[in-house]
Amino acid sequence: MSVAGAFTFDNTYARDLEGLYVPWKAAEVPGPRLIKLNHALAEELGLNAKALDSPYGALIFSGNQLPEGTATIAQAYAGHQFGGFSPQLGDGRALLLGEVIDKHGQRRDIAFKGSGRTPFSRGGDGKAALGPVLREYIIGEAMHALGIPTTRALAAVTTGEFVRRERNLPGAVLTRVASSHIRVGTFQFVTVRGDMPLLKKLADYVINRHYPELKGQADPYLELLKAVCERQAALIAKWMNVGFIHGVMNTDNMTLSGETIDYGPCAFMDHYNPATVFSSIDEQGRYAYANQPPIANWNLSRLAEALLPLLANEVNEDQDKAVAQAMEVLETFQARYQHYWLLGMRQKLGLVQEQADDFALATEFLKSMEGQSVDFTQAFLRLADTAEAVDASREGWLRKLYADDAALDAWLPRWRARQNAESVAPAQRAHAMRAVNPVYIPRNHRVEEALAAAVDLGDYAPFEKLLIVVQKPFDEQMELSAYADPAPVSESAGYQTFCGT
Ligand code: AMP
Ligand code: MG
Repeated sequence: MSVAGAFTFDNTYARDLEGLYVPWKAAEVPGPRLIKLNHALAEELGLNAKALDSPYGALIFSGNQLPEGTATIAQAYAGHQFGGFSPQLGDGRALLLGEVIDKHGQRRDIAFKGSGRTPFSRGGDGKAALGPVLREYIIGEAMHALGIPTTRALAAVTTGEFVRRERNLPGAVLTRVASSHIRVGTFQFVTVRGDMPLLKKLADYVINRHYPELKGQADPYLELLKAVCERQAALIAKWMNVGFIHGVMNTDNMTLSGETIDYGPCAFMDHYNPATVFSSIDEQGRYAYANQPPIANWNLSRLAEALLPLLANEVNEDQDKAVAQAMEVLETFQARYQHYWLLGMRQKLGLVQEQADDFALATEFLKSMEGQSVDFTQAFLRLADTAEAVDASREGWLRKLYADDAALDAWLPRWRARQNAESVAPAQRAHAMRAVNPVYIPRNHRVEEALAAAVDLGDYAPFEKLLIVVQKPFDEQMELSAYADPAPVSESAGYQTFCGT
């Protein structure tokens, strides 16, 4: 085990991708205090968690004292935000400390969020408020526990200063771990500047780091586009399967690695409604729950455009042909997505075999919930209860979720007929369903409660408790039933999350 603060950095991004960052330092903060260290993650990274869980750790994770070998940089990127293109975004309040190789041999970025102004800050103050930092911590850990690729929080510190938002709020810095921070917007940044050598370098870098199996392929950049489509299709399907709404699916918030990144005004859906939007800045519902797959496809089209000069050069000289090839890949997204979505839904519904009407069966279960304030998460759990019996004897809890169970009435016999055609024992089926349908998601009112206690009262107990709960999402425990329930519909109807800025 390393000594405290001994990160073994190997900074390939800074080494290989000059032009895509500026060296920059974190702002000094007056009173750093370590709020939370992620021990499990620290150990995965080969860090000395015990030594870092200390006032010394507060110095490190606030940026006041950088670990040896750190050469902090602010990364440059562009991006389409709510459909409009910004040629220059970049780390306006973040810094990359460097890369470490974790215990599984995986390269991971370690970065700050909230570490002060950079050349990319535009009008912003470069700071982060405590609430959004804790939200990112909780949601990232919840996503990880749910088996969804995600960046994760390594540490949260408060800075001892206030940041000015709609009111003065305690300032904080989040230390974030990611497979990398390369975004669709990183490619856009290069292409819009017409820097073809850098574009090729960036694409080769991404292939090396995230898709090494593509090295040496005949048309590696077209393959890269395919591979990113595949990972994003799998990712978005997982979001949809748990009712996660990202909130700000701008192209600068979509990674090449396939990890979920930049938890701002995100939330989990309670009652099933495809039009659900939580983000206060998403007035048009561009990033509503049901829009996430087509928006991912739209973002991938922006990636394809950014890659186009490489496709035209490497594969053939004919621009039209390159466009046609890219289009062909983009047109596969929907099918790729649907494949993963159905894979997830089959498991959620406790089905083992693949059958032609699976899509209809899954879709109609969701339809049965629509307009009835049926809680998405609980519906699948209660369906698992139902699966305990071959007859209707265990349907009570599920039916109770419905104000009007007419649609459910029509659906259940079809599901049963389908089940009975498979030779799986009821208890075994229910068990399998409970292994994929979470009991605990970060319920919006619980997240708000944890954030409010921390921000307003300096009380971190609700945050700690919620973290414990969401880190074991599939283990139902009677004493935690209050964490499994949604807020009353009257409360959740107007629920809004605010951007992390
Ligand atoms: P986000 O929506 O959080 O992914 O951020 C979009 C862009 O705004 C990125 O370039 C951020 O670095 C930048 N940004 C967000 N908040 C701030 C802030 N408080 N100060 C400076 N830049 C910010
Ligand atoms: Mg962002």
